[in-house]
Amino acid sequence: MTESLPKPDQSIFISKMVSQTLRSGQAYKFGIFAGIHGDEEAGILAVHELIRWATENPQELRDYELHFYPICNPTGRQLSTRHNHSGLDLNREFWVGSAQPEILFLETELRRERYAGIIALHSDDESDGCYGFVSGALLSEHLLEPALQAASVHLPRNEAPVIDSFPAARGIIKEGYLGILSAPPEQSPRPLEIVFETPALAPMDQQVRATVAAVKSILAEYRQLQAYAADL
Ligand SMILES: [Zn+2]
Repeated sequence: MTESLPKPDQSIFISKMVSQTLRSGQAYKFGIFAGIHGDEEAGILAVHELIRWATENPQELRDYELHFYPICNPTGRQLSTRHNHSGLDLNREFWVGSAQPEILFLETELRRERYAGIIALHSDDESDGCYGFVSGALLSEHLLEPALQAASVHLPRNEAPVIDSFPAARGIIKEGYLGILSAPPEQSPRPLEIVFETPALAPMDQQVRATVAAVKSILAEYRQLQAYAADL
């Protein structure tokens, strides 16, 4: 018995919503994750907005299967804390043998689903603009650039040369922390992986709109790139 496991009366539920593709055959399967830090509300609200969009416009997403995880850290959200109820930053616990129930659930999901794309939504109270981390497939970077552009209709981009202690170029960071939500280490080829960050002190509705615009841009550009690659 460890302290990190929930007591029987404190089960942790992480909800997942799947928007199925209309097309039979191959669909691009993406996982969209928010609320890994319990005090970052913009991503959570943006995912709810995106679920509504996917429900109302299935035609627009005909070649996508989207898996939404709106609140990955439900106890942290309840407590309005970045960390979970055990006091841990869940975004440093992935693929390091963590026993946290949220991590065990999400790692199992990531391993089973083998997403082609993983988008994680965050907000940063030390940033005055939007930015993101990219890793994985080479094209991650090419998808974040237009996403930041799409978001800039609502909120500016963070143009600083160093963001969150990482070197950045026009809001794009190519390094990252260990233990963040990501594809399983053995997954090959590596999927597209993008972390999108809004400035947490900006008005909430602008953060939500910027995030929704960024995610829609990533999906649209990914489809374009796939079609282009298929033509080569
Ligand atoms: Zn965060």
